[in-house]
Amino acid sequence: MEPDNLYRLLMAPAAATPDQPAVVQPDEDGVLEEISYRALDDRIREYATVLDGLGLDVGDRVVVEADTSAAAVAMLLACAKLGLPFVPVSPQTPDSRLRTILQSVGPALHVRADGLADRELAEVGGRGRFGRDGLVVELPPVRGPRRRRAVLGTDTAYIVFTSGSTGRPKGVVMSHRSIVTFLRAMRADGLAGPGDRVASTSPLQFDFALFGIGVALSSGAALVPVRREQLDSPRRMVAFLREAEVTQVHGVPSLWRPVLRHDPDLLSGLTRLRSVVFAGEEFPLPELRRLQETLPAARLVNGYGATESMAASFTDVPNPLPAGQDRLSIGHAHTGAEMTLVDQHGAAVTEPGQVGEIYLRSPALFTGYWNDPGATAGVLVLDPIEPRHGQKVLRTGDLARLGEQGELYFIGRADFQVQIRGNRVELGEIEGTLTRLPGVTAAAVSLVPRLGNHVLMAAVVLDDPAAGLDQAEAIAFCAKELPAYMVPRSVHALSELPLTENGKVDRAVLNRTLAAPR
Ligand code: ADP
Repeated sequence: MEPDNLYRLLMAPAAATPDQPAVVQPDEDGVLEEISYRALDDRIREYATVLDGLGLDVGDRVVVEADTSAAAVAMLLACAKLGLPFVPVSPQTPDSRLRTILQSVGPALHVRADGLADRELAEVGGRGRFGRDGLVVELPPVRGPRRRRAVLGTDTAYIVFTSGSTGRPKGVVMSHRSIVTFLRAMRADGLAGPGDRVASTSPLQFDFALFGIGVALSSGAALVPVRREQLDSPRRMVAFLREAEVTQVHGVPSLWRPVLRHDPDLLSGLTRLRSVVFAGEEFPLPELRRLQETLPAARLVNGYGATESMAASFTDVPNPLPAGQDRLSIGHAHTGAEMTLVDQHGAAVTEPGQVGEIYLRSPALFTGYWNDPGATAGVLVLDPIEPRHGQKVLRTGDLARLGEQGELYFIGRADFQVQIRGNRVELGEIEGTLTRLPGVTAAAVSLVPRLGNHVLMAAVVLDDPAAGLDQAEAIAFCAKELPAYMVPRSVHALSELPLTENGKVDRAVLNRTLAAPR
């Protein structure tokens, strides 16, 4: 029996359906080209031959800096084949952050896609570049002793650094066994299949990009990487998705904001589109409703989870979304995993309507945080329901409410729960209230220090910015809907919510924006 390996899982179609497209992307002249599974596998083997000649050991890290493309996928899978954990980073990563990652993981090699602008970095390990013409090693890594012989399922497939949307970035170490188990579950749940064309829109360092690559290739579908330039304009984005005959789009909720705001009618041209998978944060309900109205035939799928297990659940948004519904279901965990709600005393939450922290039981959990056993011990914990088994589960730090059928409703991160005058407050609940205000499409709330105190301040995005916001009216609306201690002191209209590199609301920037005197 062959041990689980990401390369083997994703390149299985190369033997079964070698001529099917694995990647669909524009060539150098901007004309769409199809790269077959056979051609992709040939590229992987070519890169792997060069890597293999460097005398690296199983477990030696390779930092891969690229946008998602056939070459990038080939590079990642060549590393996986040889048991060299890859650390994906996007070319947009600031130098300072890349330096921190390089210092932290101590890679044997840092390879960059052809055509990227030079960077000023102190050398850490060897250096190379790769593209259509192969992998060129510009500075060979220092050879160490070879201590390993075989690549095992328990070995590391990749290390992804989280964006640190709460706290400092951590390197999430994922084994081949975990990621292969996860992707097999996606296949069992029928997320994608042969004939699908799966558009991936996230930067390579976000595991949402790896998710797209994994889901597409493990199910014999084609991956369609969408470039950043195409995402900058709704018109270009939609034209590209249409031309590439995309059937499934993966992206964070903010991906859809510009097109919904400026040109929703364009979306009706996406006649091949069958599903939209969003993940990473809550989809503001007014925007989600609008997306559903403009794409009535498409399944909208709410993907919930964290890098520490790639994802936990995929739940169809009801079509149509009932008018009174104010929270989205994150349903039940994917096949082979289970989510349990646990209260502050460590007991399972069993009563519908009650809130608890989500614990994930799964064979696809991460191994630990890179070089951080303390942080690892904080989240890979003994199963609180029955610790005597010694089973480790993921303590997600997310809160949810139990539904009538055992389904869960995400209500926010435990660390977004703030205390106001002795009351526990979910910022998400205030945000949900603000998005029910006519004309508001998205909202974010911060607890901001003011004169030795903390006050709630809100930012909203308006459907029609020219219409302006009546702040007093917005506050009065909240006062009608919420207890007094949850009413924001001020509500400001922003043209955009600040976003992280991964496209999620950037809470740190938002806090600074709202705290700034005006
Ligand atoms: P970071 O935010 O540091 O980049 P992750 O991408 O792993 O790290 O973030 C995972 C977190 O994002 C989850 O724990 C949860 O709080 C939030 N999240 C992910 N998907 C959803 C979703 N569908 N709905 C609401 N929140 C989500």
